[in-house]
Amino acid sequence: MAYVRKVSASQINMYTGCNRLYYYKYILKLKEPSTVALICGSFFHSIHERFFELNPRDCNINFRNYTTEFYNYANKVFDEVLNEDRTSFGKPVPSYSKQLQTVCDDDFTYIKALTDVKKSVKNWMALYIMQFQAYAENAKGFAQAFYMSCPVRNEMEIKHPKFTGFIDSVIKKDSLTILRDLKTSKIFRSAHDDSYERQLNLYCYGYHYMTDEIADFGSLFYAKYGIEALYKFDKKNIIDDMEILIDSFYDLTESKSIDTYPCNYNYMFCTCKASKHPEGFKDGAFRCYYDKYCNQEIDGYDIVYD
Ligand code: SF4
Repeated sequence: MAYVRKVSASQINMYTGCNRLYYYKYILKLKEPSTVALICGSFFHSIHERFFELNPRDCNINFRNYTTEFYNYANKVFDEVLNEDRTSFGKPVPSYSKQLQTVCDDDFTYIKALTDVKKSVKNWMALYIMQFQAYAENAKGFAQAFYMSCPVRNEMEIKHPKFTGFIDSVIKKDSLTILRDLKTSKIFRSAHDDSYERQLNLYCYGYHYMTDEIADFGSLFYAKYGIEALYKFDKKNIIDDMEILIDSFYDLTESKSIDTYPCNYNYMFCTCKASKHPEGFKDGAFRCYYDKYCNQEIDGYDIVYD
């Protein structure tokens, strides 16, 4: 069977932000090294997934103590997930603790990274407990309330012939379907940010392909701030619109020539010498890894890839 490449929401968003960035990452496949932010993001997602494995019939949490005990349980999950060795696509990978120690320059950076994730978990717990209270009022017992509060799917893989992705959570509430994406970056953008809106729309498209159902809302949960933003899907047009978007992206990225992938120095994450906002992200947390190649081009040198 002929190989058909699959596109993802992050590919489309990256291409939209800066064609050249897409070229380096997905055409040349130049790998970015792991960063504290990336590891902490995966760590948070793993805690979120593991949390819902709680057995509500065999735990010390109940209606009288859940406002404190859910926090304690989440902290226990934090410690477990931090220290256990893991697998990724069937291959063994080091624990998050070991991964972080490898990329953190010193103990201070390591502790700060853990503190940030713990804060995100605390924010998420505050939201979760608030939503749990609504379920508790209508449930016959604690176990039923917990199961009602669980997403119907976590880390749902979209298996589509041309499109791929993972929906962090699918939530069913009051006959509504909500697709939630967890954001762990410290950049706050609303649900109406173009790239996040596009990502949610594409997930809605993928979810429809998998289930035949068009979801009602997309949700962005900003873990660092404890804020959830909801976005209503345009049920009438979304499927056709996303199909057109995916097909046009295929056409636009058919070429392998660097000339067809121009630099966008206006892109908010651009950090090369020609960036239009050199002060934008000066703490280095959002450095474009490929800026060294753009700098060689700006200086008139032949680009030498690592
Ligand atoms: S440094 Fe700027 S122009 Fe170069 S790839 Fe990154 S975002 Fe694009």
